[in-house]
Amino acid sequence: MLTEKRVLLENIDEPGLNTIDVYERHGGYKSLRKALFDTDSHALIEMLEACGLRGRGGAGFSMGKKVSFIPKGSQDKYLCCNADESEPGTFKDRLLMQKNPHRLIEGCLIASIAAGATHAFIFIRGEYELQADILDAAVAEAYAKGYIGRHMLDSRRSVELVVHRGAGAYICGEESALLDALEGKRGNPRLKPPFPAIQGLYQGPTLINNVETLSNVPLIVANGADWFKSMGTEKSAGTKVVSVSGNVQNPGNFEVELGVKARDIVYDLAGGPPEGRRVKCWFPGGSSAPVLTEADLDLAYDFETMAQAGSMLGSGAIIVVDDSQSIPGLALRLAEFYRHESCGKCSPCREGTNWTVKMLERIENGDSTPMDLEIMAQVQSNIIGNCLCVLGDSMAMPIGSMIEKFRPEFEEHIEDARARADVEAHAA
Ligand code: SF4
Repeated sequence: MLTEKRVLLENIDEPGLNTIDVYERHGGYKSLRKALFDTDSHALIEMLEACGLRGRGGAGFSMGKKVSFIPKGSQDKYLCCNADESEPGTFKDRLLMQKNPHRLIEGCLIASIAAGATHAFIFIRGEYELQADILDAAVAEAYAKGYIGRHMLDSRRSVELVVHRGAGAYICGEESALLDALEGKRGNPRLKPPFPAIQGLYQGPTLINNVETLSNVPLIVANGADWFKSMGTEKSAGTKVVSVSGNVQNPGNFEVELGVKARDIVYDLAGGPPEGRRVKCWFPGGSSAPVLTEADLDLAYDFETMAQAGSMLGSGAIIVVDDSQSIPGLALRLAEFYRHESCGKCSPCREGTNWTVKMLERIENGDSTPMDLEIMAQVQSNIIGNCLCVLGDSMAMPIGSMIEKFRPEFEEHIEDARARADVEAHAA
């Protein structure tokens, strides 16, 4: 029976943990002191590389490597915390910010020191009003105690920190769109390269990391790289807060070591599907991840294994779909979401999401033939890899996987809908 390995979620339900006094009582801001007075940025970067921490927002890129890409020199540098958690099924950053905001703030400050940044921003999604209020209060407390601002704790380092509220667009979770939104422009993805590490916010070198990634940093500085590496697998070190939702009896956030069996997360922690139901498919990393089948639940839940299985760990959000659900109906709901959220800048995404919705609507309305499935699969493969940012792929990959893995259900659905439409036409 799998139990949680609580590291980030340790003491998470303790009343008052969001206040600086309680956070300090648990050793809070000691890692910041260590980063300011007992080490230098070079050693910090080495530690972040050695511990194997990979980005918890979706891409899974090494955090230490990202920091090392930030050029040295005297130009203004920035840190942006991506708190625009909008991926359907993902709600773990919300918990971390609401219950333990000071750990994130401390992580932002240490990462800023490592990158040489003097200004840090937490870009939080517009809908997270409560969490933004909590963060604002925590930032004010940390300023008052001298942890943030000019000459932090009387050191030579200065970092200013601002909480910036987004306006509720999914695309602003894409790092370059986030930078545009932060600069006061419409949040549209930028052409890359140049990458943000070289030319990011206000054209300056910018380190961008997710809430969960940065929240790990104070713990790594406190306990060392080997401690972090002792959890998880060789290539997927540490723990992961997994949001489990969909058709499960006990949805919620669960922290586990990377590499545990996905089935154990779904059944032991989230209670499995409702009585009498079975798992039909599941998304391992939010709604952008290609779906996996029931048999794939026996795989290890880590970055490499999910990729080898043809999907991805993504944001670490498992969405369970049981056998009461219609896959074509699910595909339509998903396509509608991505069509709505597409910024419209590039045609494969703008047109592809729209045509996918139209074809799926045709299936529902009984106006479709099995040949449309071929066309729809082709549309998905024409989107993948041909867009300016990953939003197009985020629709095309899961829908392509549904057509591939559940083709008989799509075909049956098409026939049933056509028969229904015929009956209705004759009755009219
Ligand atoms: Fe915009 Fe979609 Fe192109 Fe991304 S892929 S830039 S969201 S149109």
